[in-house]
Amino acid sequence: MTKEELWQAVLGELELSISKANFTTWFKNTSLVDLEKEKVVLAVPNIFTKEWLEKKYKNKILDSIRKFQPSVNLLSCVISNNLNSFSDPSSEKKQGRSIDSVVNKPFSAKTVRLSKNSPAVSFSEPKTQPSFFGSWSSGLNERYSFDNFIIGSNNELAYAACRSVADSPGKNYNPLFIYGGVGLGKTHMLQATGNQILKNFPKSNIRYTSMERFTNELLSAIQNSRAKEFKNDYIKLDVLILDDIQFLAGKEKTQEEFFHVFESLYQHGKQIILSSDRPPKLIPTLEDRLRSRFEGGMIADVGKPELETRLAIIKQKLFEKEFELDDEIVLYLAENIYHNIREIEGALNKIIAIFRLKNQKPTLEEVKTQINDLVSSHRQKDLTPEKIINSVAEFFDLKPEDIKGKSRKKS
Ligand code: ADP
Ligand code: MG
Repeated sequence: MTKEELWQAVLGELELSISKANFTTWFKNTSLVDLEKEKVVLAVPNIFTKEWLEKKYKNKILDSIRKFQPSVNLLSCVISNNLNSFSDPSSEKKQGRSIDSVVNKPFSAKTVRLSKNSPAVSFSEPKTQPSFFGSWSSGLNERYSFDNFIIGSNNELAYAACRSVADSPGKNYNPLFIYGGVGLGKTHMLQATGNQILKNFPKSNIRYTSMERFTNELLSAIQNSRAKEFKNDYIKLDVLILDDIQFLAGKEKTQEEFFHVFESLYQHGKQIILSSDRPPKLIPTLEDRLRSRFEGGMIADVGKPELETRLAIIKQKLFEKEFELDDEIVLYLAENIYHNIREIEGALNKIIAIFRLKNQKPTLEEVKTQINDLVSSHRQKDLTPEKIINSVAEFFDLKPEDIKGKSRKKS
């Protein structure tokens, strides 16, 4: 049996024993590069996969290998640049920066200062009650966890980064910047990360808030001459999670104050997690110093989920809401509502509300009637290259042929 054959056989086994999403996420683009009597070495595309396989799948993989080669008892992973990171060639572009450039980035001072095994700075120190917020609230909602989060190719990088941050906050990826369109799970991931950190480090001082709320609180603090207390409370945090920071656009005063909070936390090795509907470079009127800070950490995008992931999410939501739908209905919903997950949840909530009231299980036809408006509005919105070219031409006062033609004129 060659190395390749052995690995194919092992993959075949693993595929049957773990979920499709997990299998794709962690085993895509792996190979067996070294096989000795007692030891195997796998090549994996990036550091996340390495950590994940070594931590979570080691025993499973070894068990499976031993069915073919009983003497093996050691497993290690090496990162190979020859493997396409995250499978599809477009993904690197999508992520804004390559994983390698992030991982190998000399994230200098901080990573050096905090040696590998040292606990994250003061994550276990007793916290002093912050003064500004009165009764302090973390802003975390237990509803969101990693357990009820479905991983797909659209969010695997962001998910892996969040998990890594939850395990060692303030260490590897700081700040962590997650971006993507509405309803794609950013808030869920940020909240789940906060909840997980609290589980791992129960004494840590965490605050989740939205940039909008941060701004409003700051303004009212300024009005009440309490800006200093406000800032002091923030810089005492171990973890600051700020959602929807695109709200910073055009708010100079907030950017200024936020910069100081950011700097202070960052300098002290405290974890900062941010989300936005777009990458830093596309947030208009963002101060350069903030932009470069954001870009200096880890940036991961979330995209639209594929059909398979949508199916898994619908099943997860039905399970949580304790409601059953026939598979053909689940498939119908997954195939027809694909823009974002909030819409899928909206459709489910509507169906559940109606049919719980009627105390009956819906048929496919009934479901179609109920969510007809959602589905048909999608169809109308569907874009074609033709429509895009026409709109762009119209906006810039050009003819569609000008865009499609050979001319390179600036206009
Ligand atoms: P965003 O903050 O990106 O606008 P949210 O995090 O609010 O999106 O997600 C919208 C809804 O979809 C939430 O109820 C969330 O729980 C759910 N959701 C999004 N992604 C997933 C996922 N991968 N698995 C399970 N639920 C998800
Ligand atoms: Mg959100």
